Amino acid sequence: MEIACLDLEGVLIPEIWIAFAEKTGIEALKRTTRDEPDYDVLMRYRLDILEKNGLGLNEIQEVIATLSPLDGAKDFVDWLRERFQVVILSDTFYEFAQPLMRQLGFPTLLCHRLEVDSHGRVTDYKLRQANPKRQAVVGFKSMYYRTIAAGDSYNDTTMLAEADAGILFHAPQNVIDEFPQFPAVQDFESLKKEFIKASNRDLSL
Ligand SMILES: [Mg+2]
Repeated sequence: MEIACLDLEGVLIPEIWIAFAEKTGIEALKRTTRDEPDYDVLMRYRLDILEKNGLGLNEIQEVIATLSPLDGAKDFVDWLRERFQVVILSDTFYEFAQPLMRQLGFPTLLCHRLEVDSHGRVTDYKLRQANPKRQAVVGFKSMYYRTIAAGDSYNDTTMLAEADAGILFHAPQNVIDEFPQFPAVQDFESLKKEFIKASNRDLSL
């Protein structure tokens, strides 16, 4: 049996914090792990900005609901689910991803969680586990599943390396150059072909 593991942001949906910053016009929310490599410092900073702008979970979800998956993403997920068990491994939060997952037909998602008080204020966040994408693949392998993984960025590379086959999708050139061992494609038709190639089953039917 084979499991297809997909990254979410940059692969199926836009980068949520960036898109959210653009929709709300809050420039400070465009800060990413590239500007602040300490994820905890970055998240505290983001939660602080949400609080200062009076944005609770309801307001955040309203804004995120106006975002759409990337062109062709829904069709790709449908195609993949007919051929593999599909699991999305993401560093986003369930509460953020919810409106976009609805548009994708709610495929299985393993990601992090926000803590929200009774007034909708985001008070904290809980990471699912350390190195979550790679650990999920380790878990599937312990259940004797073969895994094929696709992602776009540095935080996917340990998952791609751990999987039986790894594919870079929509990756920037520096990531492609640094990880030449993974095939790199830029559109969903090519990604389908890479999944077919990586599968040890005959998917021509
Ligand atoms: Mg990504």
